[in-house]
Amino acid sequence: MEYRTRFAPSPTGMLHIGGVRTALFDYLAAKGSDGEFNLRIEDTDRERFVEGAVEAIHEGLKWLGLNYDGEVISQSDRVPLYQSYVYSLLKTGAAYRCFCSQERLSQLKEKQIADKLPPVYDRKCLKLSPDEVAEFEKSGAQHVIRFRIPPNPTEISWNDKVRGKIAIPTRPLEDFILIKSDGWPTYNFANVIDDHEMNINLVIRGDEFVPSTPKHILVYKALGWKHPEFAHVPVIVGSDMKKLSKRNGDTALTEYKENGYLPEALLNFLVFLGWNPGTTEEIFTLPELEKAFGINRIGRAPAVFDVERLNYLNGVYIRNLTVPELTDRLIAFDSSLDKHERGLLERVVTVEQTRIKTLAEFGEIAASYWQIPTYRPDILVFKKSTPEATQKGLGAISEALNALNSTAWTAKTVEEWNEFLTEVVSANSLTNADVFWPVRVALSGCEKSASPAELLWALGREESLKRLGATK
Ligand code: GLU
Repeated sequence: MEYRTRFAPSPTGMLHIGGVRTALFDYLAAKGSDGEFNLRIEDTDRERFVEGAVEAIHEGLKWLGLNYDGEVISQSDRVPLYQSYVYSLLKTGAAYRCFCSQERLSQLKEKQIADKLPPVYDRKCLKLSPDEVAEFEKSGAQHVIRFRIPPNPTEISWNDKVRGKIAIPTRPLEDFILIKSDGWPTYNFANVIDDHEMNINLVIRGDEFVPSTPKHILVYKALGWKHPEFAHVPVIVGSDMKKLSKRNGDTALTEYKENGYLPEALLNFLVFLGWNPGTTEEIFTLPELEKAFGINRIGRAPAVFDVERLNYLNGVYIRNLTVPELTDRLIAFDSSLDKHERGLLERVVTVEQTRIKTLAEFGEIAASYWQIPTYRPDILVFKKSTPEATQKGLGAISEALNALNSTAWTAKTVEEWNEFLTEVVSANSLTNADVFWPVRVALSGCEKSASPAELLWALGREESLKRLGATK
């Protein structure tokens, strides 16, 4: 089965993690079946439209590499299409015009709630005669077009690809609005028309849309169409098991980018929010996922968003990059890094690659390579050493280093620098504490940093000698 899927975000806010996961599932279901992944912008809610949201969707998908097939559909371009379909529903009596004022509807709702009745439209306008409707129309009265929930069937059911058989009684469903008073379609209507027009055969979306699905199925039936298959994917919750919100991780996609996550790590993380491969394998590239993914392995249980796991995966992806690749990514992330000499930058990247979990962490960790921070001289002395032994250690090292020319210096590997330091310790009857610690602090200016051998290797002759000289 070739799946034609679509990601159908509403530009009513920034693209969030839940939406991205839906897009990823849509993408994988389509690509894994040689089908098509489409993008549709559901922008019919003009009041909730957020400036910049459409651009953010495009940029976000591009950054993640979730490339869509074909033309992007924007519902705002297709208002006449929805209107033409609603006319056919009006003709068959499957839809009707409703002229009730907002005021009446609010009062009705209040009363129903007070009477403990379901707050649904009471179908006042369904009883209007054709003449009355014509009269209202002639007067230019504002109105909406509602779908008439048919008396039969009394229950709508479908075989959800994730949740199995779902059956929902039609009884408390209200005659929902298809076309609003401004002439624009509602989500429930435009969504059906477009999924049909775009030949979508698999709808993947969050399970908060389960209650809307019977309405959609009724519209498909009223238009004489077959409905697509539905897969309602589980809600994402924070580690507190509460629905994901800003507080527990549901930030805009752009923030993940700004915080230095790699798109491939984020995708690898997101796919596990609901799906699992059925093996213990946990690292998948996008092409590997296209092969491994199957909608049948999406679970029903809420998916827990664990930022620690994301950090772990991001670290794995960072370590898997080659040094030149990681250097390029870091420069793309922070263009100010470009001003450093490439050789030095790559050496710093080599040393720090295993210590960073995000690209953002590099800036701070690398700062002491560009400029040594001012530090208190007493931190040069390790607790197992003494000021005298430390000075002796630093002196011995400086002397040994000064004896090396720059060719000898650059030829040394980190391993060889370690041996070099160890030799200086024994040749001068010192302990490691008198040499390794103070050399490290003298080179980094920090109590925590890479090892002295790594620092000597990365900083190079001139800078290392300068830093060591400053301890006198
Ligand atoms: N526009 C809806 C949303 O933003 C799409 C729901 C669907 O996929 O049908 O989630």
